[in-house]
Amino acid sequence: MSDPALVPELTSYAANCHCGAVKFTVNIPSLTHHEVMSCNCSLCTRNGYLMIYPERKDVVFHSGYDNLSSYSVLHKNIHKFCSTCGSSIVAEAIDGVKGDEKDFIAINVRMIKGFDVDKLTLTSYDGRAAKPEYDIGKPTRSTDSFTATESELVPYPANCHCGAVRYTVLIPSLEEHLVNMCNCSICTHNGYLLVYPQRQEVIFHNGYDHLRSYFFGSKTRTHKFCPTCGSSILIDLNRDNLLAINVSANNVAAEFPNLIGRGRHACFTMSIPVNSSTDTSTGGPR
Ligand SMILES: [Zn+2]
Ligand SMILES: [Zn+2]
Ligand SMILES: [Zn+2]
Repeated sequence: MSDPALVPELTSYAANCHCGAVKFTVNIPSLTHHEVMSCNCSLCTRNGYLMIYPERKDVVFHSGYDNLSSYSVLHKNIHKFCSTCGSSIVAEAIDGVKGDEKDFIAINVRMIKGFDVDKLTLTSYDGRAAKPEYDIGKPTRSTDSFTATESELVPYPANCHCGAVRYTVLIPSLEEHLVNMCNCSICTHNGYLLVYPQRQEVIFHNGYDHLRSYFFGSKTRTHKFCPTCGSSILIDLNRDNLLAINVSANNVAAEFPNLIGRGRHACFTMSIPVNSSTDTSTGGPR
């Protein structure tokens, strides 16, 4: 018999996707002490995964499991996301377990109610190096010519994980400008890292019509994601000329991790320029 003193006490965490279609409970040792894995691979960055690994029996889906879309990576793993709002929920091995191995699955802690990245112990995992087979390569530069409104703008090619959506973002060099990590519910659920180009500075080469729209914020704003692979692409406020673009689709966030600034609800107010780390936590709509 196993020593009961060695069995960690489990805490029940309620979790849901952004739209609420998918609801589940995950029973794990307290997140206060539990390590959460932050992986820099092409899939985790685009889909905003921050992983914990409970046993399958400790994750109970109450609703929405059938609403999940599946995207297989190299026929080894399946990543599942809400087909309505795009929230990435779980990744699991296709092969399953052998013999009496424990059946662990990867759960995205961003779905847990009250998620606060600052209260977690993140462990960096160099998935790009450890799993080179996951590498989908750098986004390729388009041969399209760009008419940048300002000459100092740099073209950053980007694509969703499956490649159905390809585009180029013209922004000031990310070596000098901050990327914004906002703590509103849509950004935390999707792991958005935002820059704010003008609408005409985002050039879609293919796949714009393929994007699925999820309306939030009294249905005035749109989160657009690839319905095939779940990659979060952009937030459209539908009211002015700025778009909030997810730089994770360029993999640039992994290259310039020191540039990530914080601004509460920056995606809502759109008032924070990319070169400012001003914390507006006391202002802005909720
Ligand atoms: Zn959802
Ligand atoms: Zn990864
Ligand atoms: Zn895709």
